[in-house]
Amino acid sequence: MIEVLRTVDGMRRWHRQTTGTVGLVPTMGALHDGHRSLVRASKGQADRTVVSVFVNPLQFGANEDLSAYPRTFDRDVELLKEVGADAVFYPSVEEMYPRGESLTRVAVGRMGQVLCGRARPIHFEGVTTVVMKLLHIVEPDYAFFGEKDWQQLAVIRRMVEDMNVPVAVVGVPTVREASGLALSSRNQYLTPAEHRLARNLSKALEAGRSRYEAGERNRDAIRQTIWNWLQEQGLEPEYVELVDPDSLETAPRQLDAPTVAALAVRIGRARLIDNLMLGRN
Ligand code: AMP
Repeated sequence: MIEVLRTVDGMRRWHRQTTGTVGLVPTMGALHDGHRSLVRASKGQADRTVVSVFVNPLQFGANEDLSAYPRTFDRDVELLKEVGADAVFYPSVEEMYPRGESLTRVAVGRMGQVLCGRARPIHFEGVTTVVMKLLHIVEPDYAFFGEKDWQQLAVIRRMVEDMNVPVAVVGVPTVREASGLALSSRNQYLTPAEHRLARNLSKALEAGRSRYEAGERNRDAIRQTIWNWLQEQGLEPEYVELVDPDSLETAPRQLDAPTVAALAVRIGRARLIDNLMLGRN
């Protein structure tokens, strides 16, 4: 049995009546196998799993896809039943922001301004604010986030550490199609031809990794390999960067520790991101 809870009070009541540990999987719905993998990870660690489905207006910029974002709640509930989630927290915007706006915001300084933060300056403040609210509403023992959104995961880890939030943040590996394309709700925006083109995000990162594995340690050389791969396919990257996995600071010129290679590319209506870890299995 899965319970759908639409109010903060209902969610808190559910928790009071639950025994054992609770895992939270925050999502924006339009669920796919990537989300399914997060739920599985939670079920492996916590006694009960709550999935939140909330398209958070605070993390969308004025020209972004808030109104177009896919909403498939009935299908989402079926998927969550199938994978064995215990509860879905599905609040309205009014339930989450009853005053119309949240005057209080949580921000992580420069970690929210680099990488995707350059093109989306208010995005991470919106994410951290809603995740902090969800953590206070659900009070989970564990919270699960995908490595696909590496910056988001790093930002939330840092927020939890800085603010002493009593929750264990767990990162879950990226789920990909057989072609290598990372699953994303935004892949729905792609035409078949764009979808084929989008496979080059992971292929470009793999090309960078091959150079790394062949012994290349020059940051800019690896970055250039990834950039060139994309450009040769006619793609114009928004960014390609090699960064420290925790601080998100630009990696040193000569790589000497595990490094995340991350990129963003716009294809048609979709802004797609992907990343890969170099130097750690
Ligand atoms: P979203 O609904 O896109 O906001 O994503 C909700 C959670 O699912 C986030 O923690 C994402 O990082 C994670 N997620 C999205 N796509 C994937 C994927 N392909 N593999 C693993 N996790 C994912």
